[in-house]
Amino acid sequence: MSPADDTTISRPKPADFIPGYRLDKLVGKGGMGEVYQAVQLSLGRTVAIKVLAAELATDANFVARFDKEGTALAALRHPHIVSIVDKGRNENTYYLVMEFVDGPSLREVLRSPLLDAGQSLRMFMQICNAIDYAHGRGVIHRDLKPENILFDEQAGGIAKVTDFGLAGFDERAGMRALNLTQTNMAMGTASYMAPEQRTDAKSADHRADIYALGVLLYEMLVGEVPVGNFDLPSVRKPKLDRRLDAVVKRCLKPTPEERYSSMKEMLADLEPLGPVTSVLSNARTTPLQRFKLRAAKWARRTVRATAAVVVLFAMVLIGAAYARHDAREKRQPAGIELTTDFGGKWPMTTPGRFDFTNRTLALGEGPDSIPVVALGRQIELKGDRIRFAPGEGAVAGRAVVDQAVPGAGLEVTVEAQLPKRQASRWDPLKAMFFGPAPDPRAALMLVGEPGRFVALVIDGSGAEPTLEWALGSEKRGTLAAPLSLPEGFVQLTLRVDPQTGDLSALIGKDRDERMLGDVLSLGMKWKELFGEPPRAAVGCLEGSCGFSQVHARGLQPPPVIVAEPIETEEVKEPPSATATSTKKVTRNPPPIPPLKATVKKKPSGPARKK
Ligand code: ADP
Ligand code: MG
Repeated sequence: MSPADDTTISRPKPADFIPGYRLDKLVGKGGMGEVYQAVQLSLGRTVAIKVLAAELATDANFVARFDKEGTALAALRHPHIVSIVDKGRNENTYYLVMEFVDGPSLREVLRSPLLDAGQSLRMFMQICNAIDYAHGRGVIHRDLKPENILFDEQAGGIAKVTDFGLAGFDERAGMRALNLTQTNMAMGTASYMAPEQRTDAKSADHRADIYALGVLLYEMLVGEVPVGNFDLPSVRKPKLDRRLDAVVKRCLKPTPEERYSSMKEMLADLEPLGPVTSVLSNARTTPLQRFKLRAAKWARRTVRATAAVVVLFAMVLIGAAYARHDAREKRQPAGIELTTDFGGKWPMTTPGRFDFTNRTLALGEGPDSIPVVALGRQIELKGDRIRFAPGEGAVAGRAVVDQAVPGAGLEVTVEAQLPKRQASRWDPLKAMFFGPAPDPRAALMLVGEPGRFVALVIDGSGAEPTLEWALGSEKRGTLAAPLSLPEGFVQLTLRVDPQTGDLSALIGKDRDERMLGDVLSLGMKWKELFGEPPRAAVGCLEGSCGFSQVHARGLQPPPVIVAEPIETEEVKEPPSATATSTKKVTRNPPPIPPLKATVKKKPSGPARKK
């Protein structure tokens, strides 16, 4: 789920509201109460706490149902089901503590028209697997809908089913039946409710979930829920596999007997349609890893036939040529490498200051604990300093400052340093196998959901800095400009104008600040292009990179100033009040001297301003 809108205001909670936990912010609201992002103080980890609304806490029915939600969750342990941590009551506050799922809900994902059928199907299969598992444990969800499916962005965008608040226990599985009251019924969502669930909730069994999944699948493929005599998916989207029509049709049969009899049966129909591999999984291995894998396989086969000496000799020659070729051919744009998941993930926190009202975030000194997640490579994190240590075959890594900053615009800055690579006497030998050692590159990024980012990349070899962006299939591109980098620390800035949604990438500080190329027009709905609230991140490719002074600031349009009629000649001078309040606007500096940006890859959309 996305952090609650900038506008969401929750009543502040006292520190001892729920002993052992610190409630940080409201992240969601539903029929049962509020969900907060919180910290479990004993372990210092982020969790989600669902608090039963105070108005409902006096109603025994709701308390019982809240209790059942906990029981249902406790019975389930599945990668695609939100796991429960704890359950409790503090005076009249009933609460459930769950793992925190950091990402958008399916409702938010569906709002962006960027989901292709392959992605939809992959997500849908994850949900189906979760429900198949729950049914196997005798738990029926009964409230499957996009709001109750979350995507864990930190785990690579995997789906997690949540909200078992209406869950029922299947008597066949030997568990207590849960009587659904009228209130329970009213709380389900009509569009996703099977006909039998609408008329008599008690008679609804696991096939009611299968119906809801049919609605969900239809919505994911077509973009809206099926109503009345709906058109089959392939009629609405001719490119779709016709076999999906049959699955949807069968799930949506009005009588449960005509639907799939089990999730297993449904999954058997879906599995042949699922995408085999994701695009990202192809990119997971580095050239070095790929070389090692292929060489090892090749060696196994050949050793049997040829003398070891010959094999070794051949491997040296072929391997060297291959690795060099591979490294050169397969080098991806830095931004892609930086945002590809290489597996490792290290959530951490560092002191800092996050001021919601003033929309500022700074690592370093301060009363707050700011979450920073390292992905791909471990980092050393000390105050505001982030260091990616050099390492053998070090892959790309990024450190995401996991705190969205509200505001119509955004400015993130960092001081980056690319130390010179330490030459070693093995360099010539390594170069023979793997080609010359690549130079370190560092980046300041804004990252959204997986695969969506803007990255300002600087190169230790002195190559041109580049701005790379991937914000959906339309908005992708690279822009390079011949700016020279100062020695030592260099300040990098990414800034989105609150009035125009124009993104500019800036290098240098104060008077030496230069804009890279031209602005990138993202439009006023620029945040949506990221799929979820963009976060600041720093990245490092090969070698070591150091960062400090990470700051983010939400920008608001300047207040409208009604100019007083001034009759003197000073009319051309802006009044001093305006000068300060518009300072932030004029900070988007005119490129001086005018730069000729080389567009290496033309963005396919109208991404660049003319
Ligand atoms: P309700 O029963 O009131 O609908 P939900 O369990 O659906 O409550 O939670 C309401 C919202 O809170 C969800 O739509 C989601 O945005 C957010 N939420 C729920 N559980 C989590 C979680 N484990 N991690 C993060 N956000 C969550
Ligand atoms: Mg819900």
